[in-house]
Amino acid sequence: MKALIDLDKCTACGVCQDVCPVGAISVPETHAVVSDDCTLCGMCVDTCEFQAIRLPEVGTGAVTDAAAYRGVWAFAEWRRGSVHRVSYELLSAARRLADKKGVECAAVLLGENLGEAAEDLLRYGADVVYVVDHPALRHFTDEAYSRCLVELVRDKKPEILLAGATSMGRSFIPRVAAMLQTGLTADCTELDINDEGLLLQTRPAFGGNVMATIVCPHGRPQMATVRPRVMRAEIQPRNGRVERVSLPEDVFRTRVQVLEVIAEEDTTAKLTEAEVIVSGGRGLQKAENFRMVEELARLLTGAVGASRSAVEEGWAPVSHQVGQTGQTVSPTLYMAIGISGAIQHIVGMQGSKIIVAVNKDPEAPIFDVATCGVVADLFEFVPAFIERIKRG
Ligand SMILES: Cc1cc2nc3c(=O)[nH]c(=O)nc-3n(C[C@H](O)[C@H](O)[C@H](O)COP(=O)(O)OP(=O)(O)OC[C@H]3O[C@@H](n4cnc5c(N)ncnc54)[C@H](O)[C@@H]3O)c2cc1C
Repeated sequence: MKALIDLDKCTACGVCQDVCPVGAISVPETHAVVSDDCTLCGMCVDTCEFQAIRLPEVGTGAVTDAAAYRGVWAFAEWRRGSVHRVSYELLSAARRLADKKGVECAAVLLGENLGEAAEDLLRYGADVVYVVDHPALRHFTDEAYSRCLVELVRDKKPEILLAGATSMGRSFIPRVAAMLQTGLTADCTELDINDEGLLLQTRPAFGGNVMATIVCPHGRPQMATVRPRVMRAEIQPRNGRVERVSLPEDVFRTRVQVLEVIAEEDTTAKLTEAEVIVSGGRGLQKAENFRMVEELARLLTGAVGASRSAVEEGWAPVSHQVGQTGQTVSPTLYMAIGISGAIQHIVGMQGSKIIVAVNKDPEAPIFDVATCGVVADLFEFVPAFIERIKRG
């Protein structure tokens, strides 16, 4: 979309060309021409004294029947024969929000041959589990999954829809929000309900330096994604029901057909599921030194994590990065070796039960969240610690 020129009014005066901050307007002959670089900032509209430029109309997404939308939904991810843990976490959060609003809490499960998965979801607080079991949903595709979910939303009108900020969620949930013309807040770290009954969606903003709370007052449903391990899953069985839904066949017709899925070794899963994580940062100085972190992790039967700096140095793969743009983890023990504790790192590991930080700088911010702080040179402390563990 770009600014529109009224050819009858345009005098080719060139003022719009001069004010356009992205150089998207040219005036080759009799009138101005707008290129695809236009960002719809509107500066040309404000400065055109002939009212020859306007911005295209964009739907606001506002629904006229907001009151018809009721209930809190959690999208349950079915992956290779099991429900992803984030689904239970989201469902527990959805239950809490539904209780606060006094409405029904539902899970939505899409896939094929779903076994007892729907009954299992009832144990985590769902009043109802909507199930679409269809061969076309055997493998995940953006098209089929988004169409199914949109169809269900249009039919049943939930007020709030939560989904996991996983590779699957990140892939198709924005498409769902766009199809429904509603808002979506990604990677929320907190969810609540305000006095007007709206969903408060809190997430880090401006590089993690502030926490922003976002509301979606007009669009429905209010949609948010949450990373795995940010919310806690709680078993809270209810006398819920499972509702199997049939959708029209054309919903399942897609342009892309997935023939086979070849799974890679998932090191991300190893990290997010680990009970012990030993993470290394720039303080390790070089790749060879990072091996100390790996050895310590091995001795503690844990996984290896890394700060973004360590990943950028090439000492660890990106799948091991912990933090805002990496993984969110909450192990029983998190050891941060030579990591300063920038907010973008902290948001990814502050849910850990015990945090041990090793840093030579007593003022390092990592000590603000550490259960146990070791102010020491890591090159003295870590080898000695490894030796001590080996001695038993
Ligand atoms: C939008 C955005 C997203 C980001 N996402 C992430 C993210 O997901 N994860 C992440 O980690 N970062 C992320 N960052 C980067 C983040 O801001 C920091 O730059 C990064 O976390 C710093 O990594 P570090 O602690 O390893 O390095 P540094 O900040 O350089 O810290 C190194 C630490 O090692 C200590 N040290 C040095 N030598 C020794 C020694 N011999 N013994 C003991 N201690 C020593 C120092 O005192 C220092 O505290 C992001 C930044 C932005 C802007």
